[in-house]
Amino acid sequence: MTQHILDTPVEYLKGIGPSRAEMLRKEIGVRTFGDLLQHYPFRYVDRSKFYSISEINSDAAWVQLKGKITSIQTIGTGRTARLVMTLRDNTGETELVFFQGLKWIADKVKTGSEYIVFGKPSLFQGRYNFTHPDIEPADEEAQMQQEPLQPYYSTTEKLKSRGFTPRNFVRIMRTLLAQTWKSIPETLSPHVLRMAQLMPRAEAFVNVHFPRDPHSLAKARERIKFDELFFIQLQLLRLKHLRLEKVRSRAFMRVGSYLNDFYHSYLPFPLTGAQKRVMHEIRADLGDGKQMNRLLQGDVGSGKTLVALMSMLITLDNDCQACLMAPTEILAAQHFKTITNLLGSMPVQVALLTGSTRKKERTSIHEGLLSGQLQILIGTHALIEDQVQFKNLGLVVIDEQHRFGVAQRARLWEKSTVPPHVLVMTATPIPRTLAMTLYGDLDVSVIDELPPGRKPVKTYHFYEKDRFKVFRFMKEQIDQGRQVYVVYPLIKESDKLELQALNDGIDIVMQHFPLPQYHISIVHGQLKPGDKESEMKRFVEKKTHIMVATTVIEVGVDVPNASVMVIENAERFGLSQLHQLRGRVGRGADQSHCILMSSYKLTTDGRKRLETMVRTTDGFEIAEVDLHLRGPGDIQGTQQSGLVGLKLANLIKDEKLLRMAREFAFRVLDEDPRLEHPENQPMLQHLQSSEFDWGKIS
Ligand code: ADP
Ligand code: MG
Repeated sequence: MTQHILDTPVEYLKGIGPSRAEMLRKEIGVRTFGDLLQHYPFRYVDRSKFYSISEINSDAAWVQLKGKITSIQTIGTGRTARLVMTLRDNTGETELVFFQGLKWIADKVKTGSEYIVFGKPSLFQGRYNFTHPDIEPADEEAQMQQEPLQPYYSTTEKLKSRGFTPRNFVRIMRTLLAQTWKSIPETLSPHVLRMAQLMPRAEAFVNVHFPRDPHSLAKARERIKFDELFFIQLQLLRLKHLRLEKVRSRAFMRVGSYLNDFYHSYLPFPLTGAQKRVMHEIRADLGDGKQMNRLLQGDVGSGKTLVALMSMLITLDNDCQACLMAPTEILAAQHFKTITNLLGSMPVQVALLTGSTRKKERTSIHEGLLSGQLQILIGTHALIEDQVQFKNLGLVVIDEQHRFGVAQRARLWEKSTVPPHVLVMTATPIPRTLAMTLYGDLDVSVIDELPPGRKPVKTYHFYEKDRFKVFRFMKEQIDQGRQVYVVYPLIKESDKLELQALNDGIDIVMQHFPLPQYHISIVHGQLKPGDKESEMKRFVEKKTHIMVATTVIEVGVDVPNASVMVIENAERFGLSQLHQLRGRVGRGADQSHCILMSSYKLTTDGRKRLETMVRTTDGFEIAEVDLHLRGPGDIQGTQQSGLVGLKLANLIKDEKLLRMAREFAFRVLDEDPRLEHPENQPMLQHLQSSEFDWGKIS
């Protein structure tokens, strides 16, 4: 196959050459004609309009000026040197200031000549000036380029010094498009193009760089965003189709005595409607012979553990083993305890395997798994180790999945010749748009209902001046037999300031809640695991009234009697962390309270986080706010946009387009799962040529 013109290295574009090409690669990651075409304008400016200097009265807009440079001065030396020019027109004068590239800028500009200056004014000591504006001779060509929607490209000072000024970018793009636009391939089938009413791709590229009019620009951007979103969905859904086709798992057709006995004789309470619905979904998945790959989302306290257990019992009914993997020892131990309690006297063999399991017990667990005698294994990462071999692993449940990498999950699959079914549980609500992009390949079940009798936790925001009120309130609750958490942020164990705050906090609490009347548990990361465990145990067994802790309690403890959660320096926590912490209370039938303590100084985002917590207890709403505040890049530590190659599309703003793209991907694959129809070839080819790093997507 001959190389496509879009794959041509940029050095071969007229006027670029090898060394400038190298600079483009280094500065903005552009290697080929195709890459350069995707260096989209970051704004469009009306170059037909000139402002006069006296008109400048706000720093809101970008403006274009025409005038004479009347002076050029270098002020200061070395690192602090700057270049200051005066620009004068009929109405007044203003200063242009440069901190970088002084030499080449000074060389380019002559006093007494006329220039066109484009930039954003900023107010400095009561006057407007311009920092690093574009400055071009007001020659004939510059006058000719004055269009109402001129593209404006982002660039760097380094690039500018090698001639890649925003205006030169415009020239380069013209050359590039003239040479390539006829060869820009259509990536969508005629059918999709027609049904989605999209602009053809080549036309979209021309118009995103050089819009004919505002409407064409909007259509061009829509088309390019659609492509970005559509091909992600097409790829994810295609992978799913292929997996379902290829990967056969055992069909768990039977519901036998394990599930039945448990359901009829051991279940301590009726299932919630949401739990029932999810169990139906899981049973259908387990029974159809295809591998289940399901994400179970449910807010803290929504009862996911029970769903996991019942899924495992179906597995046992079909003569297979099941395992449950948790991210921490505390959580694994808690699951083990909960599950053995729930099973009561049922004849099910369950074991706990963690890093601290003794050698002798470990050996007997290994034997039990191989012989099939051991039916359910609960544990931490220790489950992944090679020595852990099952006779017949049928189901893997993973709790709090975002802490496990995809690779780790894959290692669990390998523990069985027939791939086990997989149920991933998470209490971090993932906003829908993000779930569609990140987990488009998984089926999603949602427990959107809390067990009955739970009262939403009341949440308040207090400052230091209210401290005594808070202590009084804690005393009242303790007098009524309740227990209280006080949590400090200790994000980095080594952070001295945070440790200091924790120690000061402990002192104050101990002063106000003295022995022998009050007992306090203290839990932080610096304790030995054994001590941590016994401090927690004292609290769980109601031997202490208050637990002062760092974020180690974020996952794990379940103390229904605790009714107050005080979070110190709450502004330092992220929203999802605050939500998780609050989920530690409100687990019993009594009204619970969450008190957010903060300093007076709050950032806009910090304030918004606290306000959101006070306003709502809905995990999904909180996740949406979180997504807006942080941007999708931070969620779950994925570099979202880089990961999936989004340049124009935005997962928050373009939700509607994303839904549409997903819908079309569904339809296409429904009719042609392997993309074999001639009409679908362009889409297949585009998929195969894309460089997305699919490995990072679940
Ligand atoms: P999650 O893991 O989703 O945070 P858990 O499974 O730990 O939640 O359940 C939270 C609490 O709710 C547990 O104490 C559990 O026993 C209880 N629970 C679960 N399902 C129900 C139900 N259907 N009715 C009443 N209580 C329930
Ligand atoms: Mg849980």
